[in-house]
Amino acid sequence: MQEHKTIYFKEYTPSPYTIETCSLEFIIEESSTRVENIMEIKRCDPHAKELRLDGEMLDLELLWVDDILYSEDMYTKEEGAIRIPLDSDTARIRIINRIYPDENTALEGLYRSGGIWCTQNEPEGFRRITYFIDRPDVMTRFTTKIIASKERCPVLLSNGNLRGTATLENGKHMTLWEDPIPKPCYLFALVAGDLGSITDTFTTMSGKQVDLAIYCDRGNENKCHHAMRSLKKSMEWDEYTYGREYDLEVYNIVAVDSFNMGAMENKGLNIFNSHYVLADEETATDSDFLGIESVIAHEYFHNWTGNRITCRNWFELTLKEGLTVFRDQCFSADMNSPLTQRLDDVRSLRERQYVEDAGPTAHPIKPDHYMEINNFYTATVYEKGAEVIRMMHTVLGTERFRRAMDLYFDTFDGDAVGTEDFLWAMQSESPVDLTPFKRWYSQERTPTLRISSEYSSDSAELVLRIVQSIPRNTKNQEQLPYALPFNIALLSENGEAFDLITSDIILLNTKTLWITEEVTEVKFSAISSVPKLSLNRHFSAPVIIECDEIDYPFLMAHDRDGFVRFEAANRFAIETLEAMMEGSEVNERYIESYGALLRDSTMDPMFKSQVLELPSITTMMQRQETIDVSAIVKAQERLKQVLAKCYYDELQESICALYAPSNTDIDGLSIGKRALKNRLLGILVSLGNESISHLAQAHYHEALSMSERLAALDLLENYAPELAVSALNDFYIRYSDQTLVMNKYFSVLASSRRGGTLERVISLQEDPAYDVKVPNLVRSLIGSFARNPVAFYNESGDGFRFVADQVILIDALNPQIASGLAGAFKNYGRLSTFQKAQMGGELERIKNHPNLSNNVYEIVSKILEAH
Ligand SMILES: [Zn+2]
Repeated sequence: MQEHKTIYFKEYTPSPYTIETCSLEFIIEESSTRVENIMEIKRCDPHAKELRLDGEMLDLELLWVDDILYSEDMYTKEEGAIRIPLDSDTARIRIINRIYPDENTALEGLYRSGGIWCTQNEPEGFRRITYFIDRPDVMTRFTTKIIASKERCPVLLSNGNLRGTATLENGKHMTLWEDPIPKPCYLFALVAGDLGSITDTFTTMSGKQVDLAIYCDRGNENKCHHAMRSLKKSMEWDEYTYGREYDLEVYNIVAVDSFNMGAMENKGLNIFNSHYVLADEETATDSDFLGIESVIAHEYFHNWTGNRITCRNWFELTLKEGLTVFRDQCFSADMNSPLTQRLDDVRSLRERQYVEDAGPTAHPIKPDHYMEINNFYTATVYEKGAEVIRMMHTVLGTERFRRAMDLYFDTFDGDAVGTEDFLWAMQSESPVDLTPFKRWYSQERTPTLRISSEYSSDSAELVLRIVQSIPRNTKNQEQLPYALPFNIALLSENGEAFDLITSDIILLNTKTLWITEEVTEVKFSAISSVPKLSLNRHFSAPVIIECDEIDYPFLMAHDRDGFVRFEAANRFAIETLEAMMEGSEVNERYIESYGALLRDSTMDPMFKSQVLELPSITTMMQRQETIDVSAIVKAQERLKQVLAKCYYDELQESICALYAPSNTDIDGLSIGKRALKNRLLGILVSLGNESISHLAQAHYHEALSMSERLAALDLLENYAPELAVSALNDFYIRYSDQTLVMNKYFSVLASSRRGGTLERVISLQEDPAYDVKVPNLVRSLIGSFARNPVAFYNESGDGFRFVADQVILIDALNPQIASGLAGAFKNYGRLSTFQKAQMGGELERIKNHPNLSNNVYEIVSKILEAH
């Protein structure tokens, strides 16, 4: 059995040595790459006597210390490192080692994707390139020389500015890159290959010209223009919103097919999963376009929040990720519709982060221990982290937040810092003491606010009682109440908000209460009639609200806060479905309120499509004590059918009016109309009637945009199997040479709720378009299956067994992707006795598998231990 070691935040100490400069030379050959690494080492702790350099999977050939060649008995080689005796204040270490990018299926360090050599070093990949102090608080100035065949690799890129090129003998050539700005090694990058590109320029606010380029497989250049536009918009936005300017002469982006994550912010040389770069109207959906805009921006924004100011250690990951997600969410809100963006952010938070926070792998946004840091690139660290930043933004207000950010940039530029440094900067401008607020960083799970009110017409006063219910953490310890900004309104009959007048509590502005206690009672005066409660407006805090006094139909029709309107529709639908699952008839008032929204012609189409969406299976599952997927599906389908029957004519008319198959524009209105049309068709098709099925089929064939074609394909697959066959064939033939589109094909089939899905997924693994070594394909075929509740929780237990087999298989190739997949078992504790026994057997089987990675071991053992 191998050892799985836990690393604790409290054990952090600064590095005894640092690396001032590192000059690298890569000689890239077909079978291997030779790396020469010359480091200027500086001792920081005068008592240090031994230098430890991290290194994994490296063939060490030669090592010199201050020009003395060291034999193997002069240093110690151990698992994951070498130790060199070093009792001087400075030293020059030269190392030659060899690596094998072709054999690197973990996709960490230097690897080959298609014909392209590329790197991924965050968090700990650089130790697979050469020996180094691989931790984010060691900041080094890098120079990189790359030598490779000119024919095989005409493009040779690294961080910083290009300082030289040369043609060498034997058909080789060389480029020399110099990054003037010190950085941790996780931001190092190298790309070599035969790539196409598009170029542009950007002039910064101080008048400097930056050369921009996006590289991709040859032939895909025309799919890079949306990404380029997004990059220029991001650069402009960070200048006018935060006054932050880009600092190098070039900004390069490279799209590769095999990539574990979405993208990586390497200094001056971002490497992207091609999914987040390549798009045109025929092959990308509207949400692909929006995703590209947001991820391009996210990686660009890291240049200041992540690169110039980085994390002291990996426990501080949310320092750069929570903040940068907040920044990219604000950017997308400014570029598109703020309301639509906010609803998308909230939906994603609740469907992924709330689920994680309620389960066995819950952790604070700043964890205090980990076994495998790769397992902490989570919705909690990223998205809940962004909500925590957003709450501070609400507390401070826009102007003070900007001043606090300026202070943060001015004080810590060039440093590796922690979240307490960020909070210090925020406190300097905060109108309230942020000490209790800091619990958001150290506590886990989602708090619930239970809210009730009492109105007195005699005194025209309303007393609002807010009780925080704080769940115990995963160690079963009690946790403390949170401080949070709580945005509310008390509405009169016509939807007008009463002024909030109270002396009981701090008001951060005219609508936001500052809650700090477990129980808060606030008396509001001059409320002339019984008010309607409008709570957590704009989703001001990431909490769950329980309140029996909410008038859903009223808020759905009258609330001026779009989030509350959406939330009322969503909660009303959830409660209607839950009552149906208990055996009740469909709630007539719900059907009426839904109809009122449907007929409302003043609503923005995208917002309307969001408000009319029925709660997902995942949302409903979260509320069940014992998971029963088939009961949810039954109620959902029945509700859709009732709505479809009741509003049959209106739905058909709306679909007709919205349908514009030749429009492929990606402006907000066009995107919204397509989304709404797809939503309404999804309701109508549930009837299973022939004319509607043919309507879906027509939409499949007539559509010019991928959003419409794909939505129609999905509806045919689920509701009209006989018509789906020809559409699926057509889709396959059209796009089988385009991996990015084949991801969508696999995903539609693996997400299907029809019987026989598992058998199809098994046979699709043999499809020539599928490759288990490409993470996107694994995510779209195997990942979609694991997220398909109907197939995964199938009574036979075959779904559990199949995913367990895949976790074991993929772990041997790529532990990071395997541990992501293992997360599918997180609902283990909430299954029926029968299903729990099935899943438990599979979890034990994974856990006992020999040579299991830390990544998978940590996830699986947490799930098993929690129950
Ligand atoms: Zn990031």
